[in-house]
Amino acid sequence: MILRAHTVVTMDGPPIEDGAVRVRGERIIEVGKFSDLAGTDQTVDLGEHILLPGLINAHCHLDYTCLRGKIPPPQSFVDWIRAINAEKAKLSAEDYVVSINQGFAEAKQFGTTTIANLTGFPELIAKIDEPIRAWWFTELIDVRRPEQANALLRSTIKSLKAKKNWGVAPHAPFTASPNLYRRCEEVVQRKNAFLTTHLAESREEMQMFRDASGQLYDFLNEMGRDMSDCGGTTPLSQFAKMTDASPAQDWIIAHLNELTESDFDLLAKIPKVSIVHCPRSHAYFGHTDFQFTRLRNLGLNICIGTDSLASNDDLSLFAEMRKFHDRFHFEAQKLLEMVTINPARALKQRDQLGRIRRNFLADMIALPFTKSPNIFETILNFVGKVPWIMLHGKIIP
Ligand SMILES: [Zn+2]
Repeated sequence: MILRAHTVVTMDGPPIEDGAVRVRGERIIEVGKFSDLAGTDQTVDLGEHILLPGLINAHCHLDYTCLRGKIPPPQSFVDWIRAINAEKAKLSAEDYVVSINQGFAEAKQFGTTTIANLTGFPELIAKIDEPIRAWWFTELIDVRRPEQANALLRSTIKSLKAKKNWGVAPHAPFTASPNLYRRCEEVVQRKNAFLTTHLAESREEMQMFRDASGQLYDFLNEMGRDMSDCGGTTPLSQFAKMTDASPAQDWIIAHLNELTESDFDLLAKIPKVSIVHCPRSHAYFGHTDFQFTRLRNLGLNICIGTDSLASNDDLSLFAEMRKFHDRFHFEAQKLLEMVTINPARALKQRDQLGRIRRNFLADMIALPFTKSPNIFETILNFVGKVPWIMLHGKIIP
């Protein structure tokens, strides 16, 4: 099949006017001007549309799609943890299955064709038949029972094997033990899977590790967590100590808002991790300003995610790009890389996702073309449901 569109934005060179993409099976086999793509293949003419790669959400928790609007912006991070725990106590396994399915459907509507999804319920994974490409991460917490880290990991891997693409997510250095982090790295090395975690998200997390005080410190201390790792350190240096961060195993790190000068020195030394910034969730919490320019100058692979709807309004990556643009005035083309090329690299898919290029997987979306000085601005300003989606080389409803 040949797809023809007013403009093809390949993310692999300049946009192509009156462009075309030849698709065979689930792959792209040719890209160029429509007039240059000869042959007898059936042509689908998308007319006044921009064809671009499907978007990739590098961090979300579809478990909590049903919590949209339930928790008002909190006074503190600990208040939010308490509030979400209270909401979670009201939900059944069936509620979570519905919630995850609704999340996938919503992400797809907004033109997301690949998603890195963290779930707290590995036993539900086999029940979900996701409509888009997904990397499943099970979120692991052993703060109450660190002695059971190994058993926890064994059982989660059994559940994850229901899916092709998976990884593990020790939740954060304040809820996952050093042993759990290390075991996760070992497993991933053996199984060729993926690693993600939350790091240095809130002021309370920094206060806990740096000063051995604050609300998060007190909350976890009361829970019985061993707090001997707190005081005189930072979340990042704690992470580096726990993990084998020297030859870092391609960690995908969510947030990284709280960084000291010594953390920046450390980041310059350790291998280049991927970082996911979630602009609207960040604003909801009122976190410390994201140090985008400094992190980018260090050569880190920065991606955009939505986080969950317990701290966000919807799963639109277009809305995330706009929020990011409002804050950092970063050029629209580079912003689009943060939801295509960069997350593809984070998921080790840089050779087949995130661009419209020969031999890449045919995951594409089309948006209405409107005249503007810059086609990337048109993409950035797109609002609503994406009218046309192709996944695995098939046009999907
Ligand atoms: Zn998260």
